[in-house]
Amino acid sequence: VVELNDVHKSFGSNAVLKGVSFSVPKGQVVAIIGKSGSGKSTALRCIDRLEIIDKGHIEVCGHRVSDPGIELRRLRMDVGIVFQSYNLFPHLTVEQNVMLAPRAVKKKSKDEARELSHRTLSQVGLLDKAQAYPEQLSGGQQQRVAIARSLAMEPKVMLFDEVTSALDPQLTGEVLRVIEQLASEGMTMVLVTHEMEFAARVADTIIFMHEGKVWETGPGSMLKNPQTPELKEFMAYGL
Ligand code: ATP
Ligand code: MG
Repeated sequence: VVELNDVHKSFGSNAVLKGVSFSVPKGQVVAIIGKSGSGKSTALRCIDRLEIIDKGHIEVCGHRVSDPGIELRRLRMDVGIVFQSYNLFPHLTVEQNVMLAPRAVKKKSKDEARELSHRTLSQVGLLDKAQAYPEQLSGGQQQRVAIARSLAMEPKVMLFDEVTSALDPQLTGEVLRVIEQLASEGMTMVLVTHEMEFAARVADTIIFMHEGKVWETGPGSMLKNPQTPELKEFMAYGL
């Protein structure tokens, strides 16, 4: 469903991605780990064409992302992306936040959008908060609303960029459980995460990025048995 082939991306003279290739088959979960600055977020953003690549190819759900003529609107209907900051509209209720994109982008009727919002809010365990305002929710709950909002667009692929790193450990757990549930329902996902145990358990494939390259890749068990000195060091010292 997602395929990156020899992707290069620089910001000015800073070469951030230096020939990144990987693929995510339908229904699988890929976790990207690596030190700060290794290019994880950039790689993720390239998948949704939030960054335009310099060289290589990216294909997502049949969309050729690297083509200049790509229809962004259709790409973005198939790809949901959730960031560390959830950016809910404070003056709208939870339900209204989730209904917004299906109404505006997919032209769903109010009833259809409300039904979608209820379905996705119950997926993240927050149906009872539908009428609350964001400020009345915890950080973890707000992040789960952001996930519901993304799911309401019925994406084929979900991208998550360190969605728990602003949260307390106990709130982190509730968000990770939602992601794990999505994985078990067969959602195709790419997760950038610092939660190593979670990545090892939930991901079909782990990608360790280092200095803009896919340095090591394998199943969750690879974290217990790193092959390269760089991954060994990352597992020992993290950031
Ligand atoms: P972290 O774990 O800290 O989130 P990361 O692996 O996600 O790190 P990226 O955000 O992909 O790293 O950044 C990789 C490099 O690209 C960094 O050196 C960063 O300064 C640079 N970079 C990222 N986005 C931009 C941008 N829009 N303009 C210029 N440089 C950028
Ligand atoms: Mg990042």
